[in-house]
Amino acid sequence: MTTEVSVKVKSTFISKFNKGYPLIFKEALINVNDLQVEGDLVKLVDEKNRFIGKGYYGKQNKGIGWILTRNENDQINQIFFDKKLAAALNHRQQFYHDTETTAFRVFNGEGDGIGGLTIDYFDGYYLINWYSKGIYQFKEYVIESLNKLVEYKAIYQKKRFAIDGKYIEEDGFVIGERGQFPIIIKENGINFFIYLDEGAMVGIFLDQREVRKIIKEKYAQGKTVLNAFSYTGAFSVAAALGGALKTTSVDLANRSLGKTIEQFSVNGIDYEEQDIIVEDVFHYFKYAIKKEQKFDMVILDPPSFARSKKYTFSAAKDYKYLLKEAIKITEDNGVIVASTNASTFDMNQFKGFIATAFKEMNRTYKSLEEFSLPKDFKTMKEFREGDYLKVVFIKI
Ligand code: SAH
Repeated sequence: MTTEVSVKVKSTFISKFNKGYPLIFKEALINVNDLQVEGDLVKLVDEKNRFIGKGYYGKQNKGIGWILTRNENDQINQIFFDKKLAAALNHRQQFYHDTETTAFRVFNGEGDGIGGLTIDYFDGYYLINWYSKGIYQFKEYVIESLNKLVEYKAIYQKKRFAIDGKYIEEDGFVIGERGQFPIIIKENGINFFIYLDEGAMVGIFLDQREVRKIIKEKYAQGKTVLNAFSYTGAFSVAAALGGALKTTSVDLANRSLGKTIEQFSVNGIDYEEQDIIVEDVFHYFKYAIKKEQKFDMVILDPPSFARSKKYTFSAAKDYKYLLKEAIKITEDNGVIVASTNASTFDMNQFKGFIATAFKEMNRTYKSLEEFSLPKDFKTMKEFREGDYLKVVFIKI
């Protein structure tokens, strides 16, 4: 049985919450120290004890919990979770019917009414991501809702929170019949290997589905493609299937080589005709610039923050520099795909970085098209940070 703790909101933040902001954060609270046990329910009230909202206490890298309801009479119980999950599933009906795409997001945190929780579907398997110890306390409700609402081969989970400061590596199996990984999922006709049982990541980022599709169908034919920060090479695979002359994938992580070979192979592409390079992108750029090597298309999809031996990269500070390097190795009339998942700046600011980079390089460009999160990654307008993905196709 979870307890409910009443917490007062500072007067300056009341209107923010009343406008629908869902993230509970320390700075906004008066008696924040009354919150002790993650998973406890939090009742937010104003100084006169007037009800603002009800949620749970759970520490994430941002915030310390999420508002779940604005209705004082709502109970956070099995029925509550059933309703949220049923609505989320309903929103994804068309995905379940698409035989060409067998992986998508089923539940997207606050966008579906419960922050700190995501659920992805991979061809009959469900993967739950718990983003705090707090939301993990509601585990039984979530599993029970899935049991009631969907059929599955198995449910897996990833605990994206540290217990006693340590991330626990585990295979994540919850219930059902254990899978044999990798499984193969389909996405608009592309195959991908997926591992639900190892590490924090599964093999592809589902939010880039539309970008992979357009690269394959519209941009790759006959082109040389550099995929920087390539991870398992998903963009390279899309480009190769779309008729690219050659792809070059660059990622710093040793694991990326084997995983990229796998993603090419599962699509019947001879990986030996592609370049897969394990190296720091910034170092690779220097090398390409020196050799005057240029590409028709350069894809940039860096992490929002990363530290390598030589460089610290922060998208907010360094994206402009990254673009300037990319401009140097992109052919005239070539295309740069600039992507970021940084939630600290929005599309307008991102376009500002792009404009400045080109200006400082004395080059002109045309923005061809833009992408943000696909429909299955549901967001809410009261929480713009949740709408993190920004992708711009730029013609030089
Ligand atoms: N574009 C990929 C996802 C990229 S995730 C996709 O669509 O699937 C970010 C990747 O950047 C990680 O694989 C990480 O290993 C890599 N990375 C981080 N810093 C790097 C650096 N300085 N040079 C090369 N790769 C880097």
